[in-house]
Order: sequence, then structure tokens, then C-alpha cells
Amino acid sequence: MNLMKGKTGLIMGVANERSIAWGIANELFLNKANIILTFQNDGLKKRIIPLSEKVNCKNLYKCDVSLKPENEYSIENLIENIKKDIGDLDFVVHALAYSDKDELKGKYLDTSRINFLSTLDISTFSFTRVAKSASKIMKNGGSLLTLTYAGSKKTTPNYNVMGVAKAALETSVKYLSVDLGKNNIRVNAISAGPMKTIAGAAITGARHVYRYSEKVAPLKKNPDLQQVGNAALYLLSDISSGVTGLTHYVDGGLKVVGIPDQDLVNV
Ligand code: NAD
Repeated sequence: MNLMKGKTGLIMGVANERSIAWGIANELFLNKANIILTFQNDGLKKRIIPLSEKVNCKNLYKCDVSLKPENEYSIENLIENIKKDIGDLDFVVHALAYSDKDELKGKYLDTSRINFLSTLDISTFSFTRVAKSASKIMKNGGSLLTLTYAGSKKTTPNYNVMGVAKAALETSVKYLSVDLGKNNIRVNAISAGPMKTIAGAAITGARHVYRYSEKVAPLKKNPDLQQVGNAALYLLSDISSGVTGLTHYVDGGLKVVGIPDQDLVNV
């Protein structure tokens, strides 16, 4: 329970107690990490304050990574403030994504240019921005982690532009791992199975995907927050010191199933 003792890190993406970022924060806290949290907007701040107290987080910052002009340097300013207030970082968790709900249904073919750019900016490029800024204050090396989903590799219903964003995110992980490896900074992703979060619920037909994955996955279960949190603990702690550039699946084994057994599908 001491795997993160002496390590300080930033966790981006807590919206409520069902957020994957919150599951990760909990496991890291139990392992003695010093945790810094961000919230996207003032509306979410009220919900985050009581959660931050549960993980003994003393430093809470607002950070919206969207394209709006006022957010142009939001990530750079965040890291600058952390450097000033706290000092160096040992790890960063990037667990955020956004796309217009109206385009997480129907055809990918109908994706608008504006939502394509905004989805990729928030959900993909923000990780590269975080990596660039945060790596400057990771003087002793460290570990960066982002969250992805299997809709990057194969189609899943209505995931559409988010699948494209996640494919680019997973490729970003590989390139960033090469760029930052010489600084002993590792870069990995967790590909989580479907989970009941605000972001998860934004995808039309999420319930069907959730039930199908649960039925077909070898473990007969979608991941819970603790399982994803523990995988994150492995990737952020020194016990994974030889691992970088990887997308690690926490999906009950769904990834390996090609054609499910006949009794599992109605065809
Ligand atoms: P969530 O809704 O709890 O978290 C999403 C977070 O993104 C929220 O905290 C929100 O404030 C933040 N966010 C959105 N737009 C932002 C912006 N412009 N600036 C700053 N923050 C912004 O949902 P979640 O499921 O915990 O999502 C976390 C990550 O996990 C996402 O990358 C998501 O794609 C990924 N993921 C989710 C699932 C799932 O089934 N829920 C599966 C695999 C991967």
C-alpha cells in the first residue's frame, strides 16, 4: 500500500465519484500519493471539493482544455501554477474527453468539421499539450497516463468521431513515449471496457454496448473503478518501470474475442 509514497501527481478528469479519474485517484491515495486535481468549470467545482478532501488533495485547479480563446494557455498556466505552488511532478493522469452528443449517434459520415476539430483538440491533442508542459517539471522522470477505448481499433455503435480521436490518442502515446523516453518519462494508455460515467452515457446506445461487453467478455464483467485504478497504479508506479508506449486493456478480456459463442448472441 506504499507504491506511490513520495510521489506527487496531477489527475485531470474527475467530474463525480463515478469518473474513471476518481477511481484512479482513490487507488493512488491508498498507496500514499500526493494528489493534485483539476476541474473543468465552476459548475463542477462544488462537486469536486468534497471529493478532493477524501484523497487529502490540498491543491485544486481549474483547467478547461477546449478551443475557446480564454483557454489557449490553460494547460501551460496550470503547470506553471503547480511548479510555483508545489514543485515537481512524478505522474500525470489525463482522463478527459468530449464530443458533441449529437454526433455520438448516427453515421460517422455526418461528422461536422467543427466537432471533428473540437473532439480531437479536447480528447487527443490536450494529452500532447499536457505531456509537453508537465515533462518540463518531471525532473526525476515519471509516468504519464491517458484513457482510451476499444472503439479506436474496431467500430462500436455510435462511437464515431471519438473512435478516430482515440486512435490518434493511442498513436500519440507511442510517439510521446519515444520523445520522452530519454528523460525516463514513460507514456501509456489504459483501454477500459464500458463504464457507467457521464462521458460513457453520452454515446447513444451505451446500454447495449455495456450489456454486450459484459456478456461476451471472458470474465463476464465490465471493469469497475477499482480495477482500472489498480491498473493505473501499476502503470504510474515504479513496478512498471520497464513499460512505455503501451495501451493496456482493462476490459474483462473482451479484446481477444473474435466471434462469441453462439449461445451469447441472437443470430
Ligand atoms: P467522466 O464524464 O466522468 O469524465 C470525463 C471528464 O472529462 C470530466 O471530468 C470532464 O469535466 C472532462 N472534460 C470534458 N471536456 C473537458 C474540457 N474541455 N476541459 C477539461 N476537462 C474536460 O467520464 P469517464 O468515463 O471517466 O471519462 C474519462 C476518460 O475515460 C475519457 O477519456 C473517456 O473517453 C475514457 N473512457 C471511458 C470509458 C467509459 O466507458 N466510460 C471507457 C474507456 C475510456
